[in-house]
Amino acid sequence: MDHFLYRDGTLCAEDVALSEIAAQVGTPFYVYSSATLLRHFHLFDTALAGMDHLVCFAMKSLSNQAVLRLLAEAGAGMDVVSGGEYARAVAAGVPPERIVFSGVGKTRAEMRQALTGGIRQFNVESEPEMRALSEVAVELGQVAPITIRVNPDVDARTHAKIATGKSENKFGIPIARARAVYALAADLPGVEVIGIDVHIGSQLTDLAPFEAAYLKVAELTEQLRADGHTIRRLDLGGGLGIPYAQTNEAPPSPQDYGDLIRRTVGHLGCEIEIEPGRLISGNAGLMVSRVIYVKEGADRQFLILDGAMNDLIRPAMYEAHHDIVPVVEPAPGAERATYDIVGPVCESGDTFAKGRTMAQVGPGDLVAFRSAGAYGAVMASEYNSRPLIPEVLVQRDQFAVIRARPTFDEMIARDMIPAWL
Ligand SMILES: *Cc1c(COP(=O)(O)O)cnc(C)c1O
Repeated sequence: MDHFLYRDGTLCAEDVALSEIAAQVGTPFYVYSSATLLRHFHLFDTALAGMDHLVCFAMKSLSNQAVLRLLAEAGAGMDVVSGGEYARAVAAGVPPERIVFSGVGKTRAEMRQALTGGIRQFNVESEPEMRALSEVAVELGQVAPITIRVNPDVDARTHAKIATGKSENKFGIPIARARAVYALAADLPGVEVIGIDVHIGSQLTDLAPFEAAYLKVAELTEQLRADGHTIRRLDLGGGLGIPYAQTNEAPPSPQDYGDLIRRTVGHLGCEIEIEPGRLISGNAGLMVSRVIYVKEGADRQFLILDGAMNDLIRPAMYEAHHDIVPVVEPAPGAERATYDIVGPVCESGDTFAKGRTMAQVGPGDLVAFRSAGAYGAVMASEYNSRPLIPEVLVQRDQFAVIRARPTFDEMIARDMIPAWL
């Protein structure tokens, strides 16, 4: 459920009409609903009630500091994957003891940054990384708390570009080698093992792969404890999927997911961490765009929008589906039309949907891309020298620009022309 509904014939974000935001900030733009973000966070938090737990928002899905502040004030931690994300989380006011550092390629500079600023734990993904972290920590006179990310060799049955838990993926250490790697960790002076980490992929619409992975983690927990290691925290990753089309079957709920966690690892007495991103942010955001032209092709109609692949790359990158709806509510029985919905960028890949049947719209009309809150604004670029589009946060009847659209001058001022030219 989200808070983007038609009211009095116009699509609203909570109590604010999207047409009003468009009039003030221009198009295209992203808009997020505070109530939806909080609702999704609380669904996870409630699903884990009764277990010692922390829900760490995977901020790579949506990293605007206003969103981080909102979630952190509700009690969320953050899962960060770079020094930049760490800096953003801290700047947004997230307490360092609620920040978890994931990622396969952490640099020594990033390790230093997090150790100096404070960190809940590093999720270590390889032996060389663990050795480097130990060295950096020793230099700083610290001991870094770590979990080791294991790769359980489970097929997440999701898009190949977002599957991470098969042995062919670059993530984690093979679970079969885990005991040897934990033994090495115990010998390193700069790291302290506190648990196990696993994350098998994104947009999972079935609980079975989670179950397979978590059962393996449970078994490994017992083995590692028998080997003498302290395993008191399990980071179970993120990845729960969302419905992208209204016709899809609903993916499992956070409650079902929480029950699965209780059933598979609840008996181990570990503190539970999860790292959901998409399920918190995905359906909490829309991208709103304006129709520039309707163009008649040889055998099809093109709906040419002012939004493009540089603003929302998911269709081009993952063949992702987004429902696209008119902002003015179509009257019952209104005329429908079939379009290829495209942006202005000079790439054929700049296509949001092919042969999409929707209510007929015309030049100047606003359309909204649903489910665009996750992996939308964060993946945007300025390709074709199109400035990054603004982000807007709504709370009931208020809205605020939380990232402004740069002017052309601001955008081009980042280039520097060498003195010899
Ligand atoms: C991307 C990622 C997540 C979040 O995945 P979602 O599908 O957005 O929930 C969590 N943990 C790690 C390590 C990730 O890389």
